[in-house]
Amino acid sequence: MIGIVGAGQLGRMMALAGYPLGLDFLFLDKDASTPGGQLAPLLAGELTDRKLLGQLSERCEVVTFECENIPVEAREGLPGKARISPPTRALAAAQDRLSEKRTFELLGIPTTRYAAVDSRESLEAAVRAIGLPGVLKTRRMGYDGKGQFVLRSPSDLDAAWDALGKSPLLYENLVPFDAEVSIIAVRGADGDVAFYPLNLNVHREGILRLTRAPYGNAALTRQAQRAAKKLLDHFKYVGVLTIEFFVKRGKLVANEMAPRVHNSGHWTIEGAVTSQFENHVRAIAGLPLGSTAARGHSAMINLIGALPARDPLLVEAGLHWHDYGKSARPGRKLGHVTICESTARKRDLRGFKVLARIDRATWLALR
Ligand code: AMP
Repeated sequence: MIGIVGAGQLGRMMALAGYPLGLDFLFLDKDASTPGGQLAPLLAGELTDRKLLGQLSERCEVVTFECENIPVEAREGLPGKARISPPTRALAAAQDRLSEKRTFELLGIPTTRYAAVDSRESLEAAVRAIGLPGVLKTRRMGYDGKGQFVLRSPSDLDAAWDALGKSPLLYENLVPFDAEVSIIAVRGADGDVAFYPLNLNVHREGILRLTRAPYGNAALTRQAQRAAKKLLDHFKYVGVLTIEFFVKRGKLVANEMAPRVHNSGHWTIEGAVTSQFENHVRAIAGLPLGSTAARGHSAMINLIGALPARDPLLVEAGLHWHDYGKSARPGRKLGHVTICESTARKRDLRGFKVLARIDRATWLALR
């Protein structure tokens, strides 16, 4: 049995990938209406509830996490003999933007310039040292652009401090990037490492909207694989790990890492020989990894805030529909579609046509 802390769409897709392998799943999350709870048995409660985490680790051989924001203390010293994957050190590094940047630096992975900010004075000092424009971010619990404030002139300092000043913060330079990419890598229990092809990502308002893969840039792929290998080995990692990068003048600048399966890897469900979800489950269950090769060319479009009409989209050949079973709310990821084609050109032609119907603002921004 595999225990999954968090029964959102990522947990649900892990279980969907693991059932054909003959594996069973038990979730911990607030209730059975969650995307994972609709599928597998669930312990109902807070993700940090020590009693429930203890039950999970007693009843399962391995416990994994669909998000990195569970405080490390909640995971430590649990009863039972469940293995915990990915390792706590990786989770600790990824859940605090300052430790994340320090880990990148330690391993020689180029990243943004940054400074820790914990007072109004240190914000002023950080802006003086790093310059404008820059981004002020909460060190913890940030996702989908939440807890971020872009500073463009000294007059923005007051508003930024008013908005975020109550939390420990990090200030970094705003990177004038040419593109955003991510790499999804997996390390098996035996130390075997595999990489998916590079993903080309488009964000709007801090939220991922569109991913295309493989992004066949050999030089960038090599840089991304080197960075991922360093992190996987450093943490003696088991499972899937993602790194998001900015591309600036042909070089990668690491933005952040996620010690988990990732939204930019959803295309691998239909677009790769073995999906990121199956490979994560294989890795943590101690099974051999599957091939990470792409099958053709894929585009993944997120369905955010409200689901579009399904049936007219299903008419598109090669389109795969994923509904996470969540209630609609502005800015909430409710599902995604993936389009698989035999060439990058065909993928882009159909992908942009579908994007125009689903997410006109992103389509207009890309034209
Ligand atoms: P994050 O939550 O840090 O991944 O930020 C979400 C998105 O905001 C990124 O994918 C970028 O599009 C944008 N962003 C965040 N930090 C920076 C930065 N330092 N420079 C430029 N864009 C950024």
